[in-house]
Amino acid sequence: MTDTAAVPGVEEHAYTLDSPSGATTLADRLTRLGTGRVVVVGSGLTGVEAAAEIADRHPGLGVTLVGRQDPGASMSPKVRAYLRAALTRLGVQVVTGTAVSRVRPDGVELAGAEALAADVVLWTGGTRVAPLAAAAGLTVDDRGRVVTDPTLRSVSHPEVYAVGDAAAVRQGYGVLHGTCQSGMPTGVHAAVSIARTLRGRQPRPSSGAFWPRGGRFTRLRDAR
Ligand SMILES: Cc1cc2nc3c(=O)[nH]c(=O)nc-3n(C[C@H](O)[C@H](O)[C@H](O)COP(=O)(O)OP(=O)(O)OC[C@H]3O[C@@H](n4cnc5c(N)ncnc54)[C@H](O)[C@@H]3O)c2cc1C
Repeated sequence: MTDTAAVPGVEEHAYTLDSPSGATTLADRLTRLGTGRVVVVGSGLTGVEAAAEIADRHPGLGVTLVGRQDPGASMSPKVRAYLRAALTRLGVQVVTGTAVSRVRPDGVELAGAEALAADVVLWTGGTRVAPLAAAAGLTVDDRGRVVTDPTLRSVSHPEVYAVGDAAAVRQGYGVLHGTCQSGMPTGVHAAVSIARTLRGRQPRPSSGAFWPRGGRFTRLRDAR
């Protein structure tokens, strides 16, 4: 879920894309607005995609993308150049190297720079994990994700499996990113492991691949 506690005012004054209903509410507001300025906070991939989409669909609206880093900062120079060119073509203003310190009903305040006026603020400034796992006493990492063993079982409570955004699955390069591409395979792997356990077999380590080998869900066969 979106981290609406990141800075003051997000909860009260910003839109988020946490759910289909939230996205619909924003889309309705933008359609009613017709003209004006939209500030999208967060220059990660969600912010880039949202800013581009809004500018494309609502040519009457001015769109500003604000974030700490350049769009696509973690990607190759070629990808970054492509993103920049696409945003320029769509008329999206990009303000980077600054952080939003507060969201107001009429715009956003920036740390060390002049405030930006906005009719609508969309917050895509990062996500947080629901506090349920930590509150339940499972071992979690510093972001509240359930720390798992290689089979995706909680290291503190092996009867509990964790998958998707809720899980901190350690890989050679670090912790598996929370995406659909990792969420679906880990979900399938956990389901297969539970089925194996019910048949008296041991769960297998997760391959760590974004998709199970041999096709999307073929490993369901492993449950037998
Ligand atoms: C705007 C946006 C764009 C994205 N774009 C991409 C993309 O292009 N590609 C990509 O790979 N990923 C993308 N992601 C990330 C991707 O959506 C997530 O990584 C993925 O949905 C995680 O799946 P999940 O099943 O772990 O969690 P979720 O999809 O968040 O599902 C969790 C479910 O658990 C339910 N739930 C929560 N608490 C409880 C409870 N206490 N009891 C019962 N149910 C509960 C929730 O209602 C929800 O249905 C995007 C995310 C956002 C927000």
